[in-house]
Formats: sequence, C-alpha cells, structure tokens
Amino acid sequence: MSQMGNDRGADTVLALCGGIGGAKLALGLYHELAPGQLVVAVNTGDDFEHLGLCISPDLDTVLYTLGGVADPNRGWGRANETWNFMSALDELGGEAWFQLGDRDLAMHVERTGYLRDGKLLSEFAAHAARKLGINALILPMTDDRLRTIVVTNDGELPFQRYFVERRCAPVVGALRFEGAERARPVAKLLKSLANPALRAIVICPSNPYLSIDPFLAMPELRRALSCTRTPVIAVSPIIGNQAVKGPAAKIMTELGIPVTTQSIAAHYRGLIDGLVIDATDAHEASNIGVPTLTTRTLMLDLADRKRLAGEVIAFADEIASHDETVRVPRSTIGRPS
Ligand code: GDP
Repeated sequence: MSQMGNDRGADTVLALCGGIGGAKLALGLYHELAPGQLVVAVNTGDDFEHLGLCISPDLDTVLYTLGGVADPNRGWGRANETWNFMSALDELGGEAWFQLGDRDLAMHVERTGYLRDGKLLSEFAAHAARKLGINALILPMTDDRLRTIVVTNDGELPFQRYFVERRCAPVVGALRFEGAERARPVAKLLKSLANPALRAIVICPSNPYLSIDPFLAMPELRRALSCTRTPVIAVSPIIGNQAVKGPAAKIMTELGIPVTTQSIAAHYRGLIDGLVIDATDAHEASNIGVPTLTTRTLMLDLADRKRLAGEVIAFADEIASHDETVRVPRSTIGRPS
C-alpha cells in the first residue's frame, strides 16, 4: 500500500514522536506517504548538555531512522559505529556514562556549533534532514528550553541521569517539565496543526509519560491539539500489559496506574479520536471510550512498520468520514461506547 494517496491529494500527516518506539512508526508513515507529506515533531524534553555538547537523543533517533543510517539492533545511534572516543575518554577518567559513538559525535558537534552561532535547533534539524536526504519535515517540538525532570525516591533527576546513568532504577513519583509553561511549540508545528489539509495527527507508540507529555505540557500545543478538527489517533505502546521496550510499564506501576491500553486511552482523554491497540489486548477494546482499531502493533521489521502506518492512516480517514458529531465536540470523547 505504498505511497497511499487519497482524493485530497497533498494532505499531510503530523506525527508526534519520541525516540525508538516513535521512530519505528514514523518510518512506516514515511514509506506509506508520498514525498513531502509527513511532518514529524519530536520530543526535546530528553535534550541535555554533556561534555560541552548539545545532545538531542530523540531528534537524532528520528533523523538517523528516516535517513536510513540508524543502527538496526540498538534502535538508537548510527549503524557501523565505532567507539574510540568513548574508550579514550574512559581511559582519561572522563564522564563515560553516556555513550557517544565516533560517527554520532559529528551530529552533536555540528548541532552545538549551530546553536553557539545563535541558530535554532529547528534550523539544525532541517539542515541535518536535508543532508541525510530525508524528504519529510522533521521538527523539534520547541526551540525553547524544556527539560524533563524525574522526581524519584532518590530525589529529582535530570532525565538522562535517570534514564541512562541510573538505568531507570529509581522509583518514579512524578515527572515535571521544566520550562514547559513558557515554551512555545516551533512555528512550523503550529502551522502544520492549523493546516486545513492536515489529514491525520498520529501520536506514535512512544512513552506517554516521558516522550509525549513534554509536548502536552506546552499550553499552546495542548490547546491546539484539543481544538483541531483533524482526527488524532494514538497507538498504544503497551501490549499485553507490558511495554515493548523501556520503562513505560515500570513507571505506570510506580505511579499507581494499571498497565493497560485503557490507561493509555485515559491518559489521552479529550485529545484523541481513536486508539490503536494490539490484538493481544482485544478484550480491552470495549472499554476504551474512543473508537478503537485492534490490529498487530508490534513492529519487528519494515513491513510491520509500513502496514501499521497504512492502517493508522486508513483508521483516521474512516473517523474523518464519520458524522462530525462523533468527533466534535471533544467533550463527547472518553465515554464508553
Ligand atoms: P524512547 O524515547 O527512545 O524511549 O522511545 P519512545 O518513547 O518513542 O518509545 C518507547 C515506547 O515505544 C515504549 O513504551 C515501547 O513500549 C514502545 N514500543 C517500542 N516498540 C514498539 C512496537 O513495535 N509497537 C508498539 N506498539 N510499541 C512499541
């Protein structure tokens, strides 16, 4: 079903995305849509400064994935990577807890130079996407400083200290997004949300608490999402009461939230028009509260990514074609169907 078209021709799809899980579906969308029809807005709450470099892990995962240079096994970083810099750093007793491959370093050095020269992260993302031959608009969600802070039983930890250095071991009590109140979504993201030709907004199966909540913590973005008439479809990152990868299920348990697709729907209540869940969770479908597509959502290879992307777009089209009262006003959403 590649290069899907519809009778609205140049319609675009906007994906909100974190790192590894989100980039999988973003790649499927990239393949399914015609060139130039995909906009990917990427979480920047994980960004940090390290060894004098500005590092944007989720942005790079998306750039490497869509640019076809990502490491297929790790899911992050570049393929054919070498680690000479890391071993030399370690020898010198440097801060070696965050892995930076030799090839990957080039991205951080270039980005840091851009930002030091007063250019914006979004300008760098566009430049890097062009250089990697990507025919989609890749946007950091904001050019402003927004940082995820994990409130744990061991105190407040900047995101990468929690995620990488402490390997998500501390118990999470809350998350906060420093700077979110003042942060503005990048202009092209707002423009894309306001575009009448926007066909679908896809919340990728990224970690809702770590990767999507930073978007929603920006008041302007939450408002724009809750007002749009474009179908908003989320894909559950929870399959069979587990996360496919990463700490989503652990965090949910620690926050006292049942690890179910219903909890994902509840988390996005008032924002989404549809949820895509895995066939494993079919028994939960009747209690989701929004239209639900039950399918195989585990993306093991490119064919899985493309198939799921096609199904998500078709699901959004179907919702859009329904009687408008099904979707608007959004206060009707969330009621059990
Ligand atoms: P991170 O920023 O690198 O942690 O990546 P994301 O937040 O974008 O993705 C992490 C989430 O992706 C986890 O909660 C996983 O459960 C989810 N995930 C990873 N692979 C898949 C998959 O193939 N299917 C689904 N449905 N979810 C996935």
